[in-house]
Amino acid sequence: MTSSASPAQIPEPRQHFASDNLAGICPQALQSLLDANACGHQPGYGNDVWTQRSTDMLRELFQTDCDVYYVFNGTAANSLALAAMCQSYHSVVCSPYAHIETDECGGPEFFSNGSKLMVGESESPSARLGKLTPDAIEHLVTRRSDIHYPKPKVVSLTQATELGTVYSVEEVRAIAAIAKRRQLKVHMDGARFANAVATLDVHPSEITWRAGVDVLCFGGTKNGLPVGEAVVFFDRELSQDFAWRLKQAGQLASKMRFISAPWVGMLENDTWLHNARHANAMAQRLHAAIRELPGVQVLHPPQANAVFAQLPRRVIDTMHARGWQFYEFIAGGGCRLMCAWDTAPQTVDAFAADLAGACAQAS
Ligand SMILES: *Cc1c(COP(=O)(O)O)cnc(C)c1O
Repeated sequence: MTSSASPAQIPEPRQHFASDNLAGICPQALQSLLDANACGHQPGYGNDVWTQRSTDMLRELFQTDCDVYYVFNGTAANSLALAAMCQSYHSVVCSPYAHIETDECGGPEFFSNGSKLMVGESESPSARLGKLTPDAIEHLVTRRSDIHYPKPKVVSLTQATELGTVYSVEEVRAIAAIAKRRQLKVHMDGARFANAVATLDVHPSEITWRAGVDVLCFGGTKNGLPVGEAVVFFDRELSQDFAWRLKQAGQLASKMRFISAPWVGMLENDTWLHNARHANAMAQRLHAAIRELPGVQVLHPPQANAVFAQLPRRVIDTMHARGWQFYEFIAGGGCRLMCAWDTAPQTVDAFAADLAGACAQAS
């Protein structure tokens, strides 16, 4: 978001740890994009073979006849999926760290015409790891039942979480069981769903519909797509009229094949999983390299593709001065060091070496 009179300089290729969306397009997704472009004139608005193919592939992947829609980004995916489940007087239970709560500028409330997000707090240790807990849900849902209280309708989980942790299959099942008992729908923000599947090493159906998830916002952007997320409805009743909702929200891509074709490249040969496994492995490598440095306090062991660590102020400044980009104070404290599908081991090692130098200097 810069403007200047002189043309912008193309920067040298260099890697950072600020976010997984700093990475480019993975070769397989790019190849599908080029293949789609080589197909000449094709129908718009998703009536093309690429969209049909990626949708069929997602159905095969999940081993169920789900409804699939493509949108430009995660905020739209989450906001519109939640809006599809809620009336304006309903509420959505989520973690205080949830992206829908902290980073979507009120999108879920806006697109649902006012459904309220209700944050579930808990003393349980897993709450400190960014997870919504059964006790927090029970508390919010049973606290009131009168007409003055926004009626709970959806439980929203982020998998992997905003703190780089992962709900186990049992945890997802336990939460979904409460949701079913209380007649709530289950939404999963899967901006980093691939990283969670890679960590758990389970079939993707095991932590979604087989565990009781009704709709998944399956992220592709952070895992190597140019743009675009898939909204996957396992409960197909919920997707009635969803196409109209997307269109009205400005999320129906005219040349939809250029969003869906990269998904084909991503899903073929399990590229999505290989990308996520690599990003996760780089986070493990980073964790191992920095956790014992003097002054570094890793907040919790990484379970997906991010390491969260408290670093001394001077060390942070030194690292920034050396040109490393990463965020401070993300999701309640500590620096967030995020690895991507293409993060090179050499990048991790160079960062760790610079960090070791900065820590030695500061101590
Ligand atoms: C990145 C992200 C999203 C999607 O964000 P957009 O910028 O709208 O694409 C959603 N949820 C989580 C947890 C994220 O990290």
